[in-house]
Amino acid sequence: MVVGVLALQGGFAEHESVLARLGVASRQVRTPQDLSGLAGLILPGGESTTIGIVAEANGLLAPLRDFAMAHPVWGVCAGVVFLARAVGRLQPTLGVLDLEVARNAYGRQRESFTAQVEVAGLGAFPGVFIRAPRLVAWGSAVEPMAWHEDEVVGVRQGHILATAFHPELTADIRLHAQFVAWCH
Ligand code: GLN
Repeated sequence: MVVGVLALQGGFAEHESVLARLGVASRQVRTPQDLSGLAGLILPGGESTTIGIVAEANGLLAPLRDFAMAHPVWGVCAGVVFLARAVGRLQPTLGVLDLEVARNAYGRQRESFTAQVEVAGLGAFPGVFIRAPRLVAWGSAVEPMAWHEDEVVGVRQGHILATAFHPELTADIRLHAQFVAWCH
């Protein structure tokens, strides 16, 4: 089994490291051909505008949408923005997750923070938020699965997972393990 990590920009190397720790083979995805045979795909954090523009330039938008219809996909931070249906501004996105986000809604870089998050089925989890989007509204097919205080910071829509925080920047590999289990 091989799990893909979108490697256009941002924190893809950290996800590859966690997958390696779990003994899972990974592949960097930069072109449509790179998607072939993958069991699942992680969309890392970074800058969603850049990720969207490069994905469009590489002819990846439609292939990524098709992939997300049929396989487990996990968006982290900018990856959530890239998955979302509504972003509040014009930028290339996949639009496959029935979610509205507000980009950078916690404020500037120095307002980035670490806080305990509650993850359904896992309990307390370290939440690293780096210029994270806020999850503003979602459709009935979308299930909240992570909370920071009273605020939803992670959702799931079928086999699409989206977390505003960065598990790959912590020593806690449980969410990656859960995602890998879905990919099997
Ligand atoms: N601020 C970025 C965006 O909206 C996301 C930041 C991140 O992925 N850590 O694209």
